Amino acid sequence: MEKVEGVYPIPKWITDYHKKFMLKERTRCFKTCSKCGETRLISRFPIDRRNPDGYSGICKTCKNKYYQARYARDKDRIKALNQKYQEKYREVHKESYQEYSRRYREEHKELFKDFAKKYYLRNRRAVIERSKKYYQDHKEAVAVRKKRYREENRDKIREYERKYRLSEKS
Ligand SMILES: [Zn+2]
Repeated sequence: MEKVEGVYPIPKWITDYHKKFMLKERTRCFKTCSKCGETRLISRFPIDRRNPDGYSGICKTCKNKYYQARYARDKDRIKALNQKYQEKYREVHKESYQEYSRRYREEHKELFKDFAKKYYLRNRRAVIERSKKYYQDHKEAVAVRKKRYREENRDKIREYERKYRLSEKS
């Protein structure tokens, strides 16, 4: 007897088994959203361990829509609330903050002075270089400014020079 492919019918138990298997796979790979009623791939559903199949009954698209709508609804409310809270906080703590920063400066005065001195010493060369360079680049403007200053403060300068000469003599 010659065997020809496709001639023998596939036994019913095999087709039944296949159908059942496919149905099982189908339900494993797809899910119908309880909100929009669409059947989608299981990956389109958020994971939810409270469900027996491990996925939420509502698809991601519907969930996102829900969150977006809620966010839009709450955005202004939350913004206004935050603003009000911040204003109140600032109002309540305004004086204590000012007092705090004043006391802090007062208590750390020496530290600040010391820091400024150290900064100057460490950066003296750079500061001098910078002013030298500024002078080089703005020679004319500096000269004009100096001249104007001398003209405007002639009396003051004369007085200063007189005092200086007196102190030189003594
Ligand atoms: Zn949906």
